[in-house]
Amino acid sequence: MSETLFTKIIRKEIPAKIVFENETVLAFRDIEPKAPTHTLIIPKKPIVNVSHATAEDKAVLGELLLAAATIAKQEGVAEGFRLVINNGASVGQSVFHLHVHLLAGRPFSWPPG
Ligand code: AMP
Repeated sequence: MSETLFTKIIRKEIPAKIVFENETVLAFRDIEPKAPTHTLIIPKKPIVNVSHATAEDKAVLGELLLAAATIAKQEGVAEGFRLVINNGASVGQSVFHLHVHLLAGRPFSWPPG
């Protein structure tokens, strides 16, 4: 896949407010937050989106959710948060490096828009 700005954030070439990092995952605050808590959780491995993940990525995909739980606790929102993955341009994916949005701190409606 071609490089995205998230690769540059991983390499620390572009500044970001990093809230969590381990060997496989990086999480940072969304630059245009849609909720009081809005964090993006990304694999360090460049994967376009869930549709492009393979069996080889099983552990990485699990790490993303475990990181979400850790960050939610860290941010004091473990009681209620929403995880969103926009998978494809037609549903709003604008950066083609897999990312989980962690959103919390305001009411959320269902179904999502
Ligand atoms: P999506 O539309 O699901 O692909 O989400 C991409 C997200 O990346 C959007 O919520 C953007 O606000 C966010 N974003 C874009 N550039 C940056 C950046 N430099 N730092 C942090 N978040 C960013």
